[in-house]
Amino acid sequence: MRSLAESRVLLLGAGGLGSIAGLILARSGIGQITIVDQDRVDLSNLHRQLLYSEADQGQGKAALAADRLAREAHKCGNKLDTVAREIHAVPDTIGDLIEGHDLIVEGTDNFASKFMTADAARLAGVPVVHAGAVRWVGWALGSSAHRGPCLRCVFEDIPTEHPETCAAAGVVGPVVGVLGALQARLALQLLGDQAHACRTWYSYQALGYGLRQLRAPDNPGCPLCAGHIQEMNMARYVRAACATEPVAG
Ligand SMILES: [Zn+2]
Repeated sequence: MRSLAESRVLLLGAGGLGSIAGLILARSGIGQITIVDQDRVDLSNLHRQLLYSEADQGQGKAALAADRLAREAHKCGNKLDTVAREIHAVPDTIGDLIEGHDLIVEGTDNFASKFMTADAARLAGVPVVHAGAVRWVGWALGSSAHRGPCLRCVFEDIPTEHPETCAAAGVVGPVVGVLGALQARLALQLLGDQAHACRTWYSYQALGYGLRQLRAPDNPGCPLCAGHIQEMNMARYVRAACATEPVAG
Protein backbone atom coordinates (compact mmCIF):
# COMPACT_ATOMS: atom_id res chain seq x y z
CA MET A 1 0.00 0.00 0.00
CA ARG A 2 1.33 3.42 -0.98
CA SER A 3 1.41 6.29 1.48
CA LEU A 4 -0.88 9.22 0.66
CA ALA A 5 2.16 11.26 -0.35
CA GLU A 6 3.00 8.58 -2.92
CA SER A 7 -0.57 8.22 -4.20
CA ARG A 8 -1.65 9.44 -7.64
CA VAL A 9 -5.30 10.33 -8.16
CA LEU A 10 -7.04 10.92 -11.49
CA LEU A 11 -9.78 13.55 -11.18
CA LEU A 12 -12.13 13.00 -14.10
CA GLY A 13 -14.15 16.18 -14.31
CA ALA A 14 -13.29 19.42 -12.50
CA GLY A 15 -16.84 20.72 -12.11
CA GLY A 16 -18.86 20.83 -8.91
CA LEU A 17 -18.03 17.36 -7.59
CA GLY A 18 -14.41 17.56 -8.73
CA SER A 19 -13.95 20.97 -7.10
CA ILE A 20 -15.03 19.74 -3.68
CA ALA A 21 -13.35 16.34 -3.82
CA GLY A 22 -10.17 17.89 -5.25
CA LEU A 23 -9.96 20.57 -2.56
CA ILE A 24 -10.25 18.00 0.22
CA LEU A 25 -7.82 15.56 -1.37
CA ALA A 26 -5.29 18.33 -2.06
CA ARG A 27 -5.32 19.26 1.61
CA SER A 28 -5.10 15.62 2.68
CA GLY A 29 -1.55 15.01 1.52
CA ILE A 30 -2.10 13.23 -1.81
CA GLY A 31 1.13 13.26 -3.82
CA GLN A 32 -0.25 13.79 -7.33
CA ILE A 33 -3.58 14.77 -8.85
CA THR A 34 -4.19 14.71 -12.59
CA ILE A 35 -7.16 16.84 -13.64
CA VAL A 36 -9.00 15.91 -16.84
CA ASP A 37 -11.54 18.42 -18.13
CA GLN A 38 -11.89 20.15 -21.46
CA ASP A 39 -14.59 22.60 -20.38
CA ARG A 40 -14.20 26.29 -19.64
CA VAL A 41 -15.44 28.23 -16.64
CA ASP A 42 -19.05 29.42 -16.98
CA LEU A 43 -20.41 31.99 -14.54
CA SER A 44 -23.70 30.11 -14.20
CA ASN A 45 -21.90 27.21 -12.51
CA LEU A 46 -19.86 29.13 -9.95
CA HIS A 47 -22.29 28.45 -7.09
CA ARG A 48 -21.16 24.82 -7.06
CA GLN A 49 -17.74 24.90 -8.74
CA LEU A 50 -15.77 26.26 -5.83
CA LEU A 51 -12.36 26.17 -7.50
CA TYR A 52 -13.20 29.10 -9.78
CA SER A 53 -14.19 32.74 -9.60
CA GLU A 54 -15.77 35.39 -11.83
CA ALA A 55 -12.39 36.45 -13.19
CA ASP A 56 -11.87 32.92 -14.57
CA GLN A 57 -14.79 33.20 -17.01
CA GLY A 58 -13.94 31.47 -20.28
CA GLN A 59 -10.67 29.93 -19.10
CA GLY A 60 -9.94 26.20 -19.16
CA LYS A 61 -10.88 24.43 -15.95
CA ALA A 62 -8.09 21.84 -16.00
CA ALA A 63 -5.21 24.31 -15.84
CA LEU A 64 -7.01 26.51 -13.31
CA ALA A 65 -7.81 23.51 -11.11
CA ALA A 66 -4.22 22.26 -11.28
CA ASP A 67 -2.94 25.62 -10.10
CA ARG A 68 -5.56 26.05 -7.35
CA LEU A 69 -5.19 22.54 -5.95
CA ALA A 70 -1.41 22.84 -5.75
CA ARG A 71 -1.87 26.08 -3.81
CA GLU A 72 -4.40 24.47 -1.46
CA ALA A 73 -1.94 21.70 -0.67
CA HIS A 74 0.78 24.25 -0.05
CA LYS A 75 -1.43 26.02 2.50
CA CYS A 76 -1.31 22.84 4.56
CA GLY A 77 2.40 22.30 4.13
CA ASN A 78 1.86 19.52 1.60
CA LYS A 79 3.63 19.14 -1.70
CA LEU A 80 1.19 18.24 -4.45
CA ASP A 81 2.18 17.64 -8.06
CA THR A 82 -0.66 18.49 -10.41
CA VAL A 83 -1.09 17.66 -14.08
CA ALA A 84 -3.71 19.39 -16.26
CA ARG A 85 -5.13 17.43 -19.21
CA GLU A 86 -7.48 19.61 -21.25
CA ILE A 87 -8.97 16.81 -23.28
CA HIS A 88 -12.18 14.84 -23.44
CA ALA A 89 -11.98 11.34 -21.97
CA VAL A 90 -13.33 8.93 -24.61
CA PRO A 91 -12.94 5.16 -25.03
CA ASP A 92 -9.80 5.67 -27.15
CA THR A 93 -8.07 7.90 -24.60
CA ILE A 94 -9.30 6.86 -21.18
CA GLY A 95 -6.93 3.90 -20.84
CA ASP A 96 -3.90 6.14 -21.30
CA LEU A 97 -5.37 8.70 -18.89
CA ILE A 98 -5.83 6.08 -16.17
CA GLU A 99 -2.38 4.57 -16.56
CA GLY A 100 -0.04 5.40 -13.69
CA HIS A 101 -2.81 6.33 -11.25
CA ASP A 102 -3.86 4.55 -8.06
CA LEU A 103 -7.47 5.74 -7.96
CA ILE A 104 -10.06 7.60 -10.06
CA VAL A 105 -12.49 10.18 -8.73
CA GLU A 106 -15.23 10.35 -11.36
CA GLY A 107 -17.25 13.57 -11.31
CA THR A 108 -18.39 13.71 -14.94
CA ASP A 109 -21.78 15.09 -15.91
CA ASN A 110 -23.31 12.30 -18.00
CA PHE A 111 -24.04 8.62 -17.72
CA ALA A 112 -22.07 7.69 -20.83
CA SER A 113 -18.86 8.99 -19.25
CA LYS A 114 -19.72 7.33 -15.95
CA PHE A 115 -20.20 3.91 -17.52
CA MET A 116 -17.13 4.34 -19.71
CA THR A 117 -15.09 5.19 -16.61
CA ALA A 118 -16.48 2.20 -14.70
CA ASP A 119 -15.54 -0.14 -17.54
CA ALA A 120 -12.09 1.34 -18.12
CA ALA A 121 -11.27 1.38 -14.40
CA ARG A 122 -12.10 -2.31 -13.99
CA LEU A 123 -10.15 -3.24 -17.13
CA ALA A 124 -7.15 -1.30 -15.82
CA GLY A 125 -7.50 -2.70 -12.29
CA VAL A 126 -7.88 0.72 -10.69
CA PRO A 127 -10.53 1.58 -8.04
CA VAL A 128 -12.99 4.34 -8.87
CA VAL A 129 -15.28 6.57 -6.81
CA HIS A 130 -18.41 7.68 -8.67
CA ALA A 131 -21.00 10.29 -7.75
CA GLY A 132 -23.87 12.14 -9.36
CA ALA A 133 -26.27 14.90 -8.35
CA VAL A 134 -29.30 16.68 -9.78
CA ARG A 135 -31.68 19.12 -8.10
CA TRP A 136 -31.82 18.11 -4.39
CA VAL A 137 -30.70 14.48 -4.71
CA GLY A 138 -27.49 12.58 -5.34
CA TRP A 139 -25.65 9.30 -4.93
CA ALA A 140 -22.12 7.93 -4.54
CA LEU A 141 -20.41 4.57 -4.94
CA GLY A 142 -16.84 3.40 -4.43
CA SER A 143 -15.90 0.46 -6.64
CA SER A 144 -12.87 -1.75 -6.08
CA ALA A 145 -10.17 -2.50 -8.60
CA HIS A 146 -11.06 -6.09 -9.37
CA ARG A 147 -14.56 -7.11 -8.30
CA GLY A 148 -18.07 -5.80 -7.72
CA PRO A 149 -20.21 -4.05 -6.81
CA CYS A 150 -19.67 -1.66 -9.70
CA LEU A 151 -21.74 1.03 -11.38
CA ARG A 152 -23.21 -1.56 -13.75
CA CYS A 153 -24.30 -3.69 -10.78
CA VAL A 154 -26.47 -0.75 -9.67
CA PHE A 155 -27.70 0.90 -12.88
CA GLU A 156 -27.17 -2.07 -15.23
CA ASP A 157 -26.80 0.14 -18.32
CA ILE A 158 -26.90 3.68 -19.60
CA PRO A 159 -30.47 4.97 -19.25
CA THR A 160 -32.28 4.93 -22.59
CA GLU A 161 -34.88 7.45 -21.56
CA HIS A 162 -33.83 11.05 -21.10
CA PRO A 163 -33.03 11.50 -17.44
CA GLU A 164 -33.25 14.88 -15.83
CA THR A 165 -30.18 16.93 -16.55
CA CYS A 166 -28.43 19.25 -14.16
CA ALA A 167 -28.14 21.65 -17.09
CA ALA A 168 -31.91 21.70 -17.49
CA ALA A 169 -33.07 20.96 -13.95
CA GLY A 170 -30.21 22.56 -12.04
CA VAL A 171 -28.37 21.20 -9.07
CA VAL A 172 -28.18 22.72 -5.63
CA GLY A 173 -24.74 23.72 -4.41
CA PRO A 174 -24.94 22.05 -0.99
CA VAL A 175 -25.99 18.75 -2.58
CA VAL A 176 -22.87 18.79 -4.74
CA GLY A 177 -20.87 19.70 -1.64
CA VAL A 178 -22.13 16.69 0.30
CA LEU A 179 -21.46 14.25 -2.53
CA GLY A 180 -18.07 15.72 -3.42
CA ALA A 181 -16.95 15.51 0.21
CA LEU A 182 -18.22 11.94 0.36
CA GLN A 183 -16.19 11.12 -2.74
CA ALA A 184 -13.07 12.45 -1.02
CA ARG A 185 -13.77 10.34 2.03
CA LEU A 186 -14.29 7.20 -0.06
CA ALA A 187 -11.14 7.95 -2.03
CA LEU A 188 -9.07 8.23 1.15
CA GLN A 189 -10.58 4.99 2.45
CA LEU A 190 -9.79 3.12 -0.76
CA LEU A 191 -6.26 4.51 -0.89
CA GLY A 192 -5.95 3.23 2.68
CA ASP A 193 -7.00 -0.27 1.61
CA GLN A 194 -10.32 -0.12 3.46
CA ALA A 195 -12.17 -2.48 1.14
CA HIS A 196 -15.46 -2.19 3.04
CA ALA A 197 -15.80 1.29 1.54
CA CYS A 198 -16.76 -0.44 -1.71
CA ARG A 199 -19.78 -2.25 -0.37
CA THR A 200 -21.98 0.76 0.34
CA TRP A 201 -24.38 2.64 -1.90
CA TYR A 202 -24.91 6.19 -0.69
CA SER A 203 -28.16 7.93 -1.53
CA TYR A 204 -28.75 11.55 -0.56
CA GLN A 205 -32.02 13.51 -0.49
CA ALA A 206 -31.50 16.98 0.88
CA LEU A 207 -35.25 17.60 1.26
CA GLY A 208 -36.07 14.06 2.41
CA TYR A 209 -34.26 11.49 4.49
CA GLY A 210 -30.80 13.03 4.23
CA LEU A 211 -27.96 10.57 3.70
CA ARG A 212 -28.87 6.90 3.49
CA GLN A 213 -26.38 4.03 3.34
CA LEU A 214 -27.46 0.79 1.71
CA ARG A 215 -25.55 -2.35 0.89
CA ALA A 216 -24.45 -2.03 -2.74
CA PRO A 217 -25.90 -4.91 -4.75
CA ASP A 218 -23.79 -7.74 -6.14
CA ASN A 219 -25.57 -8.22 -9.44
CA PRO A 220 -24.94 -11.72 -10.85
CA GLY A 221 -26.03 -10.47 -14.26
CA CYS A 222 -23.49 -7.63 -14.32
CA PRO A 223 -21.47 -7.93 -17.57
CA LEU A 224 -18.54 -6.00 -16.14
CA CYS A 225 -18.17 -8.08 -12.97
CA ALA A 226 -18.69 -11.28 -15.01
CA GLY A 227 -15.76 -10.31 -17.24
CA HIS A 228 -17.87 -9.95 -20.39
CA ILE A 229 -16.54 -6.47 -21.12
CA GLN A 230 -12.98 -6.92 -22.30
CA GLU A 231 -12.29 -3.86 -24.42
CA MET A 232 -13.31 -0.24 -24.71
CA ASN A 233 -15.80 0.03 -27.56
CA MET A 234 -17.21 3.40 -28.53
CA ALA A 235 -20.48 1.84 -29.72
CA ARG A 236 -21.23 0.76 -26.16
CA TYR A 237 -21.54 4.39 -25.09
CA VAL A 238 -22.96 5.95 -28.24
CA ARG A 239 -26.59 5.83 -27.30
CA ALA A 240 -25.84 8.04 -24.37
CA ALA A 241 -24.37 10.61 -26.70
CA CYS A 242 -27.90 11.75 -27.48
CA ALA A 243 -28.95 11.50 -23.84
CA THR A 244 -26.06 13.24 -22.21
CA GLU A 245 -25.68 15.07 -18.95
CA PRO A 246 -28.08 13.50 -16.53
CA VAL A 247 -26.44 13.77 -13.24
CA ALA A 248 -23.51 15.77 -12.04
CA GLY A 249 -20.99 18.50 -12.67
ZN1 LIG B 1 -20.72 -5.08 -11.56
